[in-house]
This record gives sequence, C-alpha cells and structure tokens, in this order.
Amino acid sequence: MRALIDRLAETHTLSDEELLSLITTEDVDADRYLSQKAAGLRQQVYGNQVFIRGLIEFTNYCKNNCHYCGIRRGNPNCQRYRLSLEDILACCRIGYDLGFRTFVLQGGEDPYFTRQRITELVKAIKTAYPDCALTLSVGEKDRDTYQEWFDAGADRYLLRHETANPELYRALHPSELSLENRMGCLKDLKEIGYQVGCGFMVGSPGQTPEMILEDLRFIQRFQPQMVGIGPFIPHQDTMYKNEVPGSAALTLRLLAILRLMLPQVLLPATTALGTVMGDGRQQGMRYGCNVVMPNLSPADVRKKYALYDNKISAGEEAAESVAMLKRSMAAIGYEVVTDRGDWKGADA
Ligand code: SAM
Repeated sequence: MRALIDRLAETHTLSDEELLSLITTEDVDADRYLSQKAAGLRQQVYGNQVFIRGLIEFTNYCKNNCHYCGIRRGNPNCQRYRLSLEDILACCRIGYDLGFRTFVLQGGEDPYFTRQRITELVKAIKTAYPDCALTLSVGEKDRDTYQEWFDAGADRYLLRHETANPELYRALHPSELSLENRMGCLKDLKEIGYQVGCGFMVGSPGQTPEMILEDLRFIQRFQPQMVGIGPFIPHQDTMYKNEVPGSAALTLRLLAILRLMLPQVLLPATTALGTVMGDGRQQGMRYGCNVVMPNLSPADVRKKYALYDNKISAGEEAAESVAMLKRSMAAIGYEVVTDRGDWKGADA
C-alpha cells in the first residue's frame, strides 16, 4: 500500500483497481501513511494555515425534496425560518470582527430569495466588506442567474454533485431533479469564473466503493477549486431514518486521497465530520484538510437548519468560539488565519 500511496502523491492519479484497493483497504498502516502524505502535501501548498469561512445558513425553506435531507419540502416537522438582509449583514459584521474574511451564504432553494434579492444581498455584502470573499451555496439556477451574481461580486459557489453515479442520484432524489442538470450547473459556474466546489456524501444509502471511484474520477476531470465531503447522517423525518451513518474513517481516508489527487484543492473538515467524530476538525487537518467553516448564523436559528440529526453548532463549531478553535488548531501545529483564503492554483 505504501508504494501505491507514494505513487498517488507523486503522479496524483492511479488506475481504477488501485484506487479501489485504497478506498476499501483494511490496512491501518495505509491510513496512517495516507494521512502523513496528505498533510505533507497540504503543508507544501498552504503551509500550516487553516482558512476559516463564516457560514450563514440564511434560509431553511426549500422547494426541493431530496430524500436524505431534513429541510426537504415534504418535512412538516421542520420549523422554517429565513433571515432578512439586515440579519445577514449583522452576521457579517460579527464575523468580520472575529477575523472572518470569507462569508458563505448557504440555504435551501427558497423561492423568496429571487435572482434579484440575491443580487442585492451580494452587492450589499461586497460593498460593506470589499476585502472579503463571498461564497454562495443556494442550489441549481440558470446560467444567466449565476452570471448576474458573479457580476455583482460573488467569488465562489458550492454545489455538491452529491454522486456521479446516475442510478444512485436517481435513488436519492425525486424525479424532478436530475444529475444532468446538476452537472450542467457546475460546468456553467466554472466557465463563468467562480471558484467552484463540488462534493458528495460518504456512505449515502446504496453507495458502493465503485460509486465512490466514479466520484473521484468526476472530481479529477472537473478540477474544482474546492471539494466538500462529509458522512451521510440520517435524519429522523426522512425515509432514511434507520440507515447507518457514513463512516468517519472512510471520510478521512477519502479526504487524504482527494488532497493527493488535487494538491491545491481547498478542502474543508465539514460539520458532518465533526458531528460523527468529536475531534473531526482536527483529524481532518491531519488528513489533508485546510478549511473549517464555523457557524455564523444567529444562535436561535442554528438548530433549525437541521439537515441531519444531532448536527453540531456549539463549541468550536460556533463562529463566536473561534478563539477556542484557534487554540485547538495551534495545539496540533496549525494556524487559523485572518485571510480570504483563496485557491492557490495555477491560474489563481
Ligand atoms: N440547497 C443547496 C444545494 O442544494 O446545494 C445548499 C444546501 S444543501 C442542504 C447542502 C448539502 O447538505 C447538500 O449538498 C448535501 O450534500 C448535504 N446534506 C443534506 N442532507 C444531508 C444528510 N442527511 N447527511 C449529510 N449531509 C447532508
């Protein structure tokens, strides 16, 4: 396994069989070695810096009905909320003072937030905080809409592809959503000039190692600037309530593989990873991550943005506890920085 991992670190690719053997290995030494190699490569590209993003979950209304998601349209038990422009700007102010230089606006696909309202939001934030990067994560839109938001000042866009396998995509989503459209959106976003993030859930119901391989191959072809992966976690009000959550160990292994495949990628240790593993953020750094996204939403709505059960939002997950996060990262040799934290790629 060590020779395989060395080759992945040097050439950033392997054959399908080799990647599959790495994905499914039961060799604990392989994980240790993957982590060493991935942390070493992130050190070469990003040093020991950890980029922080202030995550503002600004609406949990959603017109979609993804089978796995707690804020899906069909969940009558979800207590809905949406933040006003003033609320969102207040979050940014608090975040700016705490040292955040990237804000991530994430939400369900809420029809209230029209193309025009988001444009106004983007302009207001970029006018008030011109030295900050703004990331949007509001789902599938047409190309003109993405272009308008980019022209208004949005820098980055997160849109997980969820799975590159058409059958699994079909099983996880209602028929009105299509993998083709999602992939088309990602292509549009990249062509427009956003720093783009795709990604998938690890251990979603029905996912096989071969499907994970398809995800890795898609990511390799697409060459995104960011990749968001985290374990699937069941939500009590979904058809998957009795499913087993995705494995933290496999998530860490895949994070390391992704770092070795895409050395410059911005790779967050996600909230879902922190939810299934108490020290998930720290472990993520050890496996090649370089980004953490603390929650900057108003405290009273954090529990309502419940994509899955037991989602963490306190302690180091809370933006106001960034001092605690800094200390725990410093303890393992990493430095949380006040920086936009842009992608350090070839044409960056
Ligand atoms: N509406 C936007 C979109 O579709 O990209 C952004 C919000 S969506 C809720 C953000 C991400 O949450 C999804 O891409 C999905 O991967 C993740 N997610 C939803 N339900 C989840 C679950 N049960 N376990 C883990 N992750 C989940």
